[in-house]
Formats: sequence, C-alpha cells, structure tokens
Amino acid sequence: SFTTRASAQPLTNADELIDSVETFIFDCDGVIWKGDKLIDGVPETLDLLRSKGKRLVFVTNNSTKSRKQYGKKFETLGLSVSEEEIFASSFAAAAYLKSINFPKDKKVYVIGEDGILKELELAGIQYLGGPADGDKKIELKPGFLMEHDKDIGAVVVGFDRYFNYYKIQYGTLCIRENPGCLFIATNRDAVTHLTDAQEWAGGGGSMVGALGGSTQREPLVVGKPSTFMMDYLANEFGIQKSQICMVGDRLDTDILFGQNGGCKTLLVLSGVTSLSMLQSPNNSIQPDFYTNKISDFLSLKAT
Ligand code: PLP
Ligand code: CA
Repeated sequence: SFTTRASAQPLTNADELIDSVETFIFDCDGVIWKGDKLIDGVPETLDLLRSKGKRLVFVTNNSTKSRKQYGKKFETLGLSVSEEEIFASSFAAAAYLKSINFPKDKKVYVIGEDGILKELELAGIQYLGGPADGDKKIELKPGFLMEHDKDIGAVVVGFDRYFNYYKIQYGTLCIRENPGCLFIATNRDAVTHLTDAQEWAGGGGSMVGALGGSTQREPLVVGKPSTFMMDYLANEFGIQKSQICMVGDRLDTDILFGQNGGCKTLLVLSGVTSLSMLQSPNNSIQPDFYTNKISDFLSLKAT
C-alpha cells in the first residue's frame, strides 16, 4: 500500500511534542555524537527529558560494538545511559537468534567485528569467523576445495573492516550448502565515517551486498528500518508505539524505522541529511517534524 504523508513541518513547539509522547528513541551517530565527538547541548537535553519523566532509549545500526561497549562510550562522553537503554544492531542479531530459539548445537558464522561476537557470547550462542578470519587467505591450487562447518545455522553480516574473499566464500558456502541456514544482516547502511574527510564504504551495506550478490538471497535485516528492534524494545518496556517519538538523522533508516513502527518522527539536521535532501522531489520519506539538533528542545517554546 502507498500512503502519502504531509511534508515535514519545522519543529516550532518542542514542549508540545515532548508532552505528546512517553518515550524518545534516539539514533546515535548524527544525533547524540558524530564519530567520537558529542553533539552540542546533548547532556542538557537528555537531562531535561529525564526531568520530565520521559523514557529514553538509544538505537544504533553500528554493529561494531556491544551494548556494554556502547555503555562505556556514553560514559566517556559524560552521559549517564545504562546498557539496558541501548539497542545496537549487534545486540539485535543475538536477540533475534534467541527469539527464534536458535538451536544450541548450531553455530553462527560471523562476518563483522567484535560487537557481534560479544553479544552472541552473552546470548550463549556458538560462533566462528569474525576478526579472526581477517587474515585468512585462499591458496587457489588445482583441486582446492574449501571446507565449511556443517553446523552453521546462520550467517550474520555487519560492518567489517577485516572483510576479505575468504569470508565471502565461507559465508556463501554456508548459506548455499547448509539446509535452512539463515542470512542475517545487522544493517545495510551505505556509508560510515571512519574519518571526517570523506564518506567511507559500507556501514554494513557493502558487506551485506557482497553476500547477497554471491548467494542471490535477500538477508533478514534486524537493524533499522526493520521492525525487529522496535517490537523488541516496545515489548520489553511495555511501551505503546504511538507513545514513542523516533529521533534520527537518516530518512531511509531512522525515519522509516519510526514510521514502520507507527511512532511520531523527528528528523535532526545534525547528521547526514540536509534540509535540501529532505525537501528534494526525489525524497518520499517525510518525518512529522524536523529541526537542526536535539538541543533545540531547550529553546523552542510555544510563543
Ligand atoms: N554502521 C557503521 C559502521 C557506522 O559507522 C555508522 C555510523 O557511524 C552506522 C552504522 C550508523 O549508526 P547510527 O545508526 O547510530 O546512525
Ligand atoms: Ca544516524
């Protein structure tokens, strides 16, 4: 079905928006921080929302860290946020496998970084791969046959700076040759910000695309904009989705995630989306509201 939404409105009365919901879900990169740098006014804004009794939840598609590692990052930035308030796509992959009762005797092949391994470990799920396979090479001698573990029940793919041909072939064999093997993507963001000098390939999307290309299979995505994390956290905290405002800087992940969940949506222009991108005729994703940055909550009062 196709629904047309009204064009996004500039946020003019933050109190009205704040009063209309119980929970704020914040995307992280581009909303709370940019890389390792806190965005201006964030601590004061979170304090204001907490003082008004709002529940705050943080959702990131970046799978390189675990919830616990993100907890440390928030602490380093001077923000008091507990692990239980953080939903990273690394955690989502492990939570998804738990939710389907992934068999204890099966293993996951991981194409991704440490965050996914840590979350699988905490969930009691066996795995192979990860950064350990980053320096593996294939010697293409005549007759060479790559073996793969027949107990792999899922291949989980996320952003991986140690990505190589060995992992592509291993993951592809698992998906093609193990009956019922799942193909799970933490996220498919197209770019990441390794340095601020340019955009860098693949916030996960390039690695997921490689496996999709070789297997001709569509992955099951557990990160934004899929509804898995929304359903999971709404269920865990007992929140009505109409009582949530999703705040993010990306239209095709964050704003769609909020809209797929039936939440209110606020786009902030402190990350990857500019006002001209929002208002471009090529863009069909319209949040309810947009504003420059979340600290506008401190100043945008009704007149
Ligand atoms: N994945 C990677 C590897 C990233 O570096 C980023 C942003 O820096 C993202 C995903 C998107 O993260 P978020 O959902 O917090 O904007
Ligand atoms: Ca973001």
